[in-house]
This record gives sequence, structure tokens and C-alpha cells, in this order.
Amino acid sequence: KQIQIAIDGPAAAGKSTIAKKTAELLGYTYVDTGAMYRAITYKAIQLNIDLQDGEKLTSLLKETTIELKPSPKGQLVFLDNQEVTDEIRSLKVTASVSQVAAHAHLREEMVLRQLEMGKDGKIVMDGRDIGTHVLTNAELKIFMSASVEERAKRRYLENQKRGIDSVLKELAEEIALRDKMDSERDASPLIQAEDAVFIDTTELTIEQVSEKIMQLAKE
Ligand code: C5P
Repeated sequence: KQIQIAIDGPAAAGKSTIAKKTAELLGYTYVDTGAMYRAITYKAIQLNIDLQDGEKLTSLLKETTIELKPSPKGQLVFLDNQEVTDEIRSLKVTASVSQVAAHAHLREEMVLRQLEMGKDGKIVMDGRDIGTHVLTNAELKIFMSASVEERAKRRYLENQKRGIDSVLKELAEEIALRDKMDSERDASPLIQAEDAVFIDTTELTIEQVSEKIMQLAKE
């Protein structure tokens, strides 16, 4: 049985870790849609484009290629054939991406691309609107969350592993602000799909969450 799996939830809830792992275990393709929004945000910043200008950003996206390629080091992100995997995780991009992602026409173009990527099934896609606007017929939809404190702590440890110094309180503030912007925008705000399974990961390990999802995927 080949299925589509949609994983949504707020920032730093562990979606990508879990989605990657699930895809690996099932031999599916993993699509990180946040990386696509980050890539266009990165390009717009490089070109000094006004991030409020939705039409300009949408035309920019239409002439931009964004590719996600699996590699042993994890998923690599290519923007117009140039690798930008690390660049799109910068503080500047992280602080600006929700503003870019709020534009309805830009989202429409993203959704078209994501539908194309997911059309053959065998896909695990993570983001904010996958269950509600992209893979609306997905056989399995997950909505994952955790307390802001826990998410900030996880991000802190992840940064530490990557050699980046961060301040816990600042991470918590950034995460809370991004959640607020993603949840309060008019265009496909972050909400749980009616048919999604909610998983609170605050007290769970990666293995426990992964096990739960594998169980659901087999049902
Ligand atoms: O998943 P990640 O934290 O990398 O996503 C970055 C940002 O991209 C989110 O905060 C949100 O503004 C936007 N996004 C979105 N819809 C998606 C995926 C990401 O609006 N499907």
C-alpha cells in the first residue's frame, strides 16, 4: 500500500526529524516545504526585494527553481541550481520567512509545485498547510506540537550540535512570534486538519513519536 503522509505543526516541533525518519523507514520521499519558503525568502533578501510586495515575490518565485535532493548528509536544497542548504537556516531568513509565506498568490504557486512532487504517493511532506491545502486527501495526517519551552530547548541543543551559540529565551521568543504570524495570517493559516491525528511530543522521544506514526501508517 502506497500512501501520502502529511505532517503539520508549529515551528521546531520536531516535524522534519520525524518526517525524515518516517520516510526513511518506509522508503518514501521526504519533502520539506519549509525549505521551499525559506529558499524564496533567501533569494528575495539577496535581491533586496520588499518582503511586503506579494506580487513581486510571486513573479520572482515563478522564475525560480527550487529543488530538494536527498543525500547521505540529509536533504540538500538547491536554488536556481546553487546549493543553499545552510544559507536558508540563517537568523535573517528565519526572522523573515513568515512574512513572505503570508502572501496568498505566492502560496498558490508553492502548492502547485508541492502537488506535483506528491502526486505519485510514497511521500512524507511536512509544513504548516499540508493536511489542509496541499495533500488534502492524504491517507495519514499528523499534527505535531510541543510546549514552546520544549521546542526552544530542542532548537537550542540542535544549534549547539551545529556549533551555533544561542540564547534559550531568544529562541523561545522567535518561535512564539513565528507561530503567531503563521497562525494569524489570512492565507492558509496554521491549523490542524479535521482528519489529522494530534500528537503532543512534549514528553515523547523521537523514537516514541516515530513508532506511533509507523503504527498509524500501517493501519
Ligand atoms: O518548517 P520551517 O520552520 O522551516 O518553515 C519556515 C516557515 O515557512 C514557517 O514559519 C512558515 O512561515 C512557512 N511555511 C509555510 N507553509 C509551509 C511550510 C512553511 O507557511 N507548508
